[in-house]
Amino acid sequence: MRTHPEDMGRLQQAVRFHLAGKSARYQCEFRARHRDGHWVWLFESGHVISRDAGNQPLRMVDMQQDITERKAMEARLAQLAFHDELTGLPNRRNFMSAIDREYGRIRRQEGYQACVLMLDIDHFKRINDRYGHAAGDMVLAGLGKTMLGQLRETDMLGRLGGEEFAIVLADTCPEDALCVGEKIRKAIEDTCVDWQDKGRLYVTFSVGITPLCSTDKRPDGALSRADVALYTAKRNGRNRVCHLDAPHTVDVEQGACHKASCL
Ligand code: GH3
Ligand code: MG
Ligand code: MG
Repeated sequence: MRTHPEDMGRLQQAVRFHLAGKSARYQCEFRARHRDGHWVWLFESGHVISRDAGNQPLRMVDMQQDITERKAMEARLAQLAFHDELTGLPNRRNFMSAIDREYGRIRRQEGYQACVLMLDIDHFKRINDRYGHAAGDMVLAGLGKTMLGQLRETDMLGRLGGEEFAIVLADTCPEDALCVGEKIRKAIEDTCVDWQDKGRLYVTFSVGITPLCSTDKRPDGALSRADVALYTAKRNGRNRVCHLDAPHTVDVEQGACHKASCL
């Protein structure tokens, strides 16, 4: 069987390390091409059983085990643990890890900027009430795809719960984040979903935007600010983008937030 090119280096390194006498045995999980043409996952373990007087390996034994099913199960579990079932998007836990990573970069790398967007569908309850929960579910899944189409690979879109989504824009200044927010708002406004023969569903989003800031007390501080901006967007008539500056202009915990402004 042919070893997958991406796994070859890892396998060779484990074997070389062992042959040099640096490990009691070698073990490696890697992909290999089955004679039928498809890829399988193998677990291989081996060790030298005799060496010559100069400690050069003479004979070794190894065993291989097909672990394809176990690998598929692990992938399914990871998908369930870190993704939302309806939309396939990263779930809250997964999204919070992305925020933490970006905070780490902001603290380490001077001048690095990142922003967070909170998005909430406007009057979503009406869709459920008028067309049923299944229609609402279809809209949620469809909007997830529309938003993904507007983002770069380095951005992360997550479903925080219900009809609330959030995006972390890596390496992005507030001005560019506002453009992305407005682009997404427009894309959603222009998207319609056909619901069986009962009609066309249109929805809009309200969006709150704020920069991640190294002086935030908690890593999710920006989420609280984005939430304040989001509710300013709701209060100002929905289907709009609002932003809130860095925390020194505002005390979110006191609720003294007068700086949110809308596009
Ligand atoms: P607002 O513009 O103020 O955000 O109004 P809204 O109707 O969107 O907000 P509200 O919080 O009153 O209602 C949210 C609705 O979202 C109610 C709930 O049934 C619906 N919802 C939450 N999660 C799901 C879901 O997974 N599927 C469906 N179909 N509906 C959901
Ligand atoms: Mg909501
Ligand atoms: Mg809503």
